Amino acid sequence: MFSWPTNYDYCYTISGFISREGIGLHSGEKTKVKISPYEKEGYYISFADKPREIFKLTQDLIGSTMLCTAVKLGGRNLYTIEHLLSALAGCGLNYIHIEVDGREIPLLDGSAIQWVQAFEEVGIKKVPIPDNFIPEIKTPIILNKEGSVIALTPSNKTTIISTISFSYEAIGNQTFVIDLNPKCFVEKIAPARTFGFKDQFQELSELGLIKGGSLDNALVCDGDKWVNPPLRFDNEPIRHKILDLIGDLALVGLPKAQILVYKGSHSLNSLLASALNN
Ligand SMILES: [Zn+2]
Repeated sequence: MFSWPTNYDYCYTISGFISREGIGLHSGEKTKVKISPYEKEGYYISFADKPREIFKLTQDLIGSTMLCTAVKLGGRNLYTIEHLLSALAGCGLNYIHIEVDGREIPLLDGSAIQWVQAFEEVGIKKVPIPDNFIPEIKTPIILNKEGSVIALTPSNKTTIISTISFSYEAIGNQTFVIDLNPKCFVEKIAPARTFGFKDQFQELSELGLIKGGSLDNALVCDGDKWVNPPLRFDNEPIRHKILDLIGDLALVGLPKAQILVYKGSHSLNSLLASALNN
């Protein structure tokens, strides 16, 4: 049986190509992704209709929308890349080419586990460690935005301590601590699905912003209960917040540091990614 490494001392790519298709969150359209090993370090994207135009993903290309992380590549936007990036970075994979047939990465079940399972189908192989695979941390970094805080201190491993606090009783206060490595990521973080709120869900649906949103790809909270139980973990929301953080750090690398996050968000995470990128 396939087993994931228990540290980030080495870097890997996948041993063959995989493909997945599904619905895009924004458009509701079917979209298809083929992922294969690439000869250069980093994550590279091309679109199926222009296979020779290959873009390297870099932190400065990343933008966020109200709902997801997007990148602008050769004049077009590619949406909802965060969970695939989380799966790649969390599993310690690099030297990757992603070919997209569509405008979005499919949301699949709203977590990263189906990407992980796809990688397991073909297996992984060692590749040289890229320069930025583990960014160097010399001094602590503390950033805050709109009542959210992220603090990072140097360490000899990657530890994430994350806390959320919601007035909705179904979520309430949740804290999760993880010493990250590919095996732990796969077992404890990758299965955690994205979550939203019933009132917000209705509003966004009416605005036509989540044509692909459904009870199959997001946990929906309705005050003191969940609309679509069961949860995969009692504290699935905080685990998903960590999944998002890993995806947001994917392009700068996961630092050897203790990262303490209070009320994390994509915009806060991207501030940290930019700070690590400098
Ligand atoms: Zn997410």
